[in-house]
Amino acid sequence: MSLDLPRTEPRSVNPAADEVRQRLEHARTTRLAQLKALDDTGQNPGDHLMSNQKDAIKRVLTEIDEAFARVEDGTYGTCLGCSKSVPPERLEILPHTRYCVACQSRAA
Ligand SMILES: [Zn+2]
Repeated sequence: MSLDLPRTEPRSVNPAADEVRQRLEHARTTRLAQLKALDDTGQNPGDHLMSNQKDAIKRVLTEIDEAFARVEDGTYGTCLGCSKSVPPERLEILPHTRYCVACQSRAA
């Protein structure tokens, strides 16, 4: 699976950006593998549970792409709900998250 990100020179303003990219890259690789595993085991393409799972994974992949974009424009790690910083512990577990815990639970 090739990556469709432009391989431009990294303009690292933030020294942590490379680490964040690696984390997102890892998250994406994991999700793509899950998606492929679901495809490989898919005997029944009309299986609703499976298509729900796949939709959920695809949604996360989209969020990961958006997170990559936010790393580039320097807004990564800022909650889109309240504009405060998302705690680093949370970003370690959910590197693609857009919201802090409070805003996430408000949105859910
Ligand atoms: Zn927030």
